[in-house]
Amino acid sequence: MKKVKVGFIGLGNMGQPMAKNLLAAGYDVHVVAHRHRGPADQLAVLGATIAETPKQAAVDAAFVVTMLPDLPEVEQVVGGENGIIAGSSPGLVLINMSTVSPSGIQKLAETVANFGIQICDAPVSGGPVRAAEGTLTIMAGAKAKVFEHSRSILETLGENIFYTGDTGSGQVAKLCNNMLSATLMAISSEVLTLGVKSGVDAELLRNIILKSSGANFQLENWMPNNVLIDQYQAGFSLKLMYKDVGLAQTLGREQRVPLFIGNLVHELYGQFMNSELRDADFSVISTFYQDAANVTIANGDPRRKSDEEF
Ligand code: NAD
Repeated sequence: MKKVKVGFIGLGNMGQPMAKNLLAAGYDVHVVAHRHRGPADQLAVLGATIAETPKQAAVDAAFVVTMLPDLPEVEQVVGGENGIIAGSSPGLVLINMSTVSPSGIQKLAETVANFGIQICDAPVSGGPVRAAEGTLTIMAGAKAKVFEHSRSILETLGENIFYTGDTGSGQVAKLCNNMLSATLMAISSEVLTLGVKSGVDAELLRNIILKSSGANFQLENWMPNNVLIDQYQAGFSLKLMYKDVGLAQTLGREQRVPLFIGNLVHELYGQFMNSELRDADFSVISTFYQDAANVTIANGDPRRKSDEEF
């Protein structure tokens, strides 16, 4: 039987392992290299075809998946001479899994509908580890028929699949989640810094909180891979988290919902946007507290030895 062709665009921390899972599930995956050919070459070894342009990836494809930073990148690969529209046939479904503006993706869905393309807008939560396991949480907003048509792809990539209703509604859920996620990272960093500076071991404090009323996802699952070893290699970059909280702020203004804590958290992350740390994992926000308190959460050591002279 002929394999279903799926174009895949955006081979970063999330897209690379997701494309790998589609290959393993037997799809005919066509990927597009961007900046570095490494991720596309690695997928080619596993059976992917490298398309030179989004247009080529869309020719005869049943689906094109986008896992790009934000809406401008999605719009760029959709339009133009070498874009998805140029290569598509009517009936193509564009599964956008990037986190973008809810109203922006609605507008894009209206535009591409003029070319016979339907959008299944399906942002995800879970990070690169769950992307690799195929256990992402997926919140899909689309016409019900388009969602059902896309179900087999979504079930290959995720474990918890939620249908949220109209196009853009999945993004609303995603932005609510990420504003909370950014906040939990900041406040968990704040309390770990306080505890360690006051003489309690970080791992002991973490274990106590995980069995108490302050338990949360970041403390349990994310921080052991970064804050607790004082290394911040990107799993989810700070600049993308800053973008997501910014999108939530815009939504709050559109809906006239005051976001006191969300706004504060956005400013907190914003401090790093003019430094190379914006490309580090978003847990690098903990270094704001660690540097201010001159204590390293991972081991209790001072950050700057010379402070002892003050
Ligand atoms: P990333 O920066 O690691 O990857 C983005 C990829 O898109 C890069 O490989 C980049 O080269 C590629 N790209 C950019 N412009 C392109 C273009 N014009 N054509 C082709 N490729 C292009 O980002 P990520 O962490 O994989 O996140 C992708 C999306 O998923 C974002 O919207 C993010 O908010 C969301 N997300 C990320 C995570 C996470 O934990 N990393 C979790 C959930 C959702």
